[in-house]
Amino acid sequence: MTKQEFVKGEKYLKLNKEGDFVVDYDGKLEIIDFHTHMSNVVPLKILDPDSKGKKLKYPTLASINHMDLSVPYWKKNDPDEKMKGLVPLIKFSREGYKILKDMVHGGTYENCFKSQEENMIQKNVVLPLSTEKCDRSMEALKLAEAYPGRFIAFCSVHPQDPRMKEKIVQYKELGAKGLKLKITEIELKGDFKPLVDVFKACYEVGFPVLLHTGSLTHLKRSNVSNLMWKLMKSTRVAIFGELLKELPMDFKFIFGHSGIAEYKLVAEYLKAFPSALAELSCQSAESITYLINEVGYERLLYGSDWPALPQAITLSRVLLATENNEEARACILYKNAAALLK
Ligand SMILES: [Zn+2]
Repeated sequence: MTKQEFVKGEKYLKLNKEGDFVVDYDGKLEIIDFHTHMSNVVPLKILDPDSKGKKLKYPTLASINHMDLSVPYWKKNDPDEKMKGLVPLIKFSREGYKILKDMVHGGTYENCFKSQEENMIQKNVVLPLSTEKCDRSMEALKLAEAYPGRFIAFCSVHPQDPRMKEKIVQYKELGAKGLKLKITEIELKGDFKPLVDVFKACYEVGFPVLLHTGSLTHLKRSNVSNLMWKLMKSTRVAIFGELLKELPMDFKFIFGHSGIAEYKLVAEYLKAFPSALAELSCQSAESITYLINEVGYERLLYGSDWPALPQAITLSRVLLATENNEEARACILYKNAAALLK
């Protein structure tokens, strides 16, 4: 199947001149994208976001023959997929590195502003990805200072950073609106106290916290090696959901990606923790509908994970899931985010 044939069957999606997915919608919309990265906020050798002529690759997107927009992550699942031995492990870590590298390559102002315009998006929330050694928060703050009409900055402070508390206070003063982390059980060596301390420091300054949450659940345990299984499960929803018991009930925790394939579990945590929210990048129209039905639309946020994924696809899923509910649409695309970022 060609990409052109593919979009013909998808309401709210079309292709631009470059052959990339863009939204197909005639009306006017107000949109904040709550999950984006730029070429200078990733813990690799960064690229000046002013660089020109870099082609976007959308490294997380499946090829057109493997694409299935009806499931989270939009990839056709093979229930008999095997991940044993060293080869899948090497492939997995290589892919992770390549995704980050391609995000650096494509996440320029030129590409970002074009995508914002093609998809009617007013502002991107930029989420830096920091490690223990490399804090990218200042880079995100620089973007928001250069283009306050286009970007909102989150900071990212690693739980093992010795200056964690003072940094969070400082970034708040510099204009950060929240904190983002992509962290795994393996990195934390099963000790979640430092992460809970980050949550508490954020609570004290009034920051919402967005974490990458979720894992792929189609794999069978017997088809996967022990180490690979640990890797795949090391950002699972339950790890972070359980930590919320240690925080005040009005702590604003955002389940990034709505837990990918674990969105039903995210719904359960949203029921248990009335201040928790879910960000929808890589979800399907069906899973977004499920979340609206289970927890309402007041705590759901549109996000895309650009430039890992196109802004248009999650956007088109939200439009599909809110076809008969203008208020839900306005809340998910804009109002909920605006209230959180006040
Ligand atoms: Zn992301």
